[in-house]
Amino acid sequence: MKFELLELREDRIRYLLSGVTAAFANGIRRACMSEVPVLAIDEINLYDNTSVLFDEQLSLRIGEIPLRAEDLDVFSQPEECQCGGTGCPGCRVDFMLSKEGPGMVYSEDIQFTDPGVKSAFKKIPIVILGDGEKLVMEGFATKRVGKDHTKWQAGTLCGYKNQPSFAISEACDGCGKCVEVCPRNILVIEEGRAKATNILECSLCKLCIGACEAAAITLSPVLDSFVVSIEGSGCIVAKDMVAKAASEIRKRALDLDAKLAELS
Ligand code: SF4
Ligand code: SF4
Ligand SMILES: [Zn+2]
Repeated sequence: MKFELLELREDRIRYLLSGVTAAFANGIRRACMSEVPVLAIDEINLYDNTSVLFDEQLSLRIGEIPLRAEDLDVFSQPEECQCGGTGCPGCRVDFMLSKEGPGMVYSEDIQFTDPGVKSAFKKIPIVILGDGEKLVMEGFATKRVGKDHTKWQAGTLCGYKNQPSFAISEACDGCGKCVEVCPRNILVIEEGRAKATNILECSLCKLCIGACEAAAITLSPVLDSFVVSIEGSGCIVAKDMVAKAASEIRKRALDLDAKLAELS
């Protein structure tokens, strides 16, 4: 297996993975979306809500706010916690939200009892309060995974495509028609011939092939090489999300290995 980093940001990682099957590349993608545990608000007690939003709408909005913990590993998922899932500081973070209008209620107004936990983004609007309107609530966040509910989904935009293999033959007369139709703007004419500038950006749409009357373009997917893009909700750094996804897959493989060993 070969790994080449193409882009690294806090919320996004893009890499070229070669010498693997599509199932492997897809396994990492799926694990980022469904198996990486993060925090989200799980239960709310509403004491006062005179805003324009119904309690249910408000609760849904608050549940979907991405939360960032300084150290996610200090929290357990409820069913794995020493309390047995009844609720304790090891598997819950309490919060309080109290605001009176006029003004917008933002995600930063949610105050957690653990100073290491906060909203991943300060200015997510929750609801605008009119003069004298009030919002008072408390509740707690828990750590779970995306397959339990989308509010715990760490990976949001996760995808992969085959690496494109692209070639221009001697038949190219430099007419430029492929350059005109390419939606990714990665084709140029240089010294009378077409050339791809950054072929990893190619979407394999084949519009260039359709436009080329000289049939000079050869394009095919490299079957064991993938451009993988993973973007998160902000709950966890993208690089850590991929590492966690890989370790979750590894954990399952080891479980399976142990079960198979018991049979022999
Ligand atoms: S359309 Fe075909 S012939 Fe024209 S520049 Fe592109 S590759 Fe060359
Ligand atoms: S396949 Fe599509 S994106 Fe790729 S070079 Fe051709 S026109 Fe551009
Ligand atoms: Zn607990």
